Amino acid sequence: MFRVRFHGRGGQGAKVASRVLGTAAFLEGYYAQDFPLYGAERRGAPIAAFTRISKEPILERGVISKPDIVIVMDETLLDDPLANLLSGLKEGSVVFINTTHSPAEAKDKYKVTAQVITLDLTKIGLDILGLPVLSTLAGGVASRIAGLKADSLRKAVEKETSEILTDKGLLAKNIEAALYCFRAIQPVEVKTTEAIQKGSPVIDVPFEPAAISSPTINTTGNTPLRKTGNWRVFKPVWNYEACTKCMTCVARCPDGCIAVNEDGFPYTDYDNCKGCMICAEECPVKAIEKVREVHA
Ligand code: SF4
Ligand code: SF4
Repeated sequence: MFRVRFHGRGGQGAKVASRVLGTAAFLEGYYAQDFPLYGAERRGAPIAAFTRISKEPILERGVISKPDIVIVMDETLLDDPLANLLSGLKEGSVVFINTTHSPAEAKDKYKVTAQVITLDLTKIGLDILGLPVLSTLAGGVASRIAGLKADSLRKAVEKETSEILTDKGLLAKNIEAALYCFRAIQPVEVKTTEAIQKGSPVIDVPFEPAAISSPTINTTGNTPLRKTGNWRVFKPVWNYEACTKCMTCVARCPDGCIAVNEDGFPYTDYDNCKGCMICAEECPVKAIEKVREVHA
């Protein structure tokens, strides 16, 4: 059995990625199971999704605590100890990281003991889809690592995205992006763990200490204490030549992190700006530029 765990941020498409993988496997005759686990309903918040694939009926239920494959859709999560991305890895596991780093650099930087594969999914998403939505791309990567066929992936992307996309052009671009990522990954050997046999426990939900399963900050007015600046894919940059000081961006920022400087111009607190880019979308004179963050 393959046990695959996806880690992403709300809005990146980890749930759909897990469905694409499950459906591709199902179309090849495997039993498949996929489901997400959400925390706070907040764009940019860490989420996980899980897929099990097996030639035998799947008796296990619950989150995957010992994955064979981990797909990291946002590398900034690796800096967040609460996200706990690398837990449960074993010898023979494979970790994919969406990053501009090479596998050797990423392995060293994030102290990963398992085999590491990297690809800049965000760039591919922006180039092909025009959006940093990575669901079908991550599904393509996971399908390749799990040893599935390109045709199963194509059919799975078509099925899963046609349920959520009405734009046929975007659907075709998602198929193109998924297949591009599938082909960009070299086949690898993943040492899988055996399926749970009949009569064994079927629920595997590990105990998590409160420091991991609950927020560690309990004081009121604590939003600025939870630094969300590393959630960004894009950062807003103000053009004061164009800004009319209408204050729309200040009012619309969902995290309340835009303040006004002594000259009356808005600026953000980059330690807390999560990069949702609502300010840029709402600015009536387009005085806020979207600049891609690259995590060096
Ligand atoms: S991108 Fe803009 S709206 Fe979003 S959190 Fe940052 S400053 Fe606020
Ligand atoms: S919404 Fe645009 S024009 Fe208005 S204050 Fe913000 S940046 Fe300036």
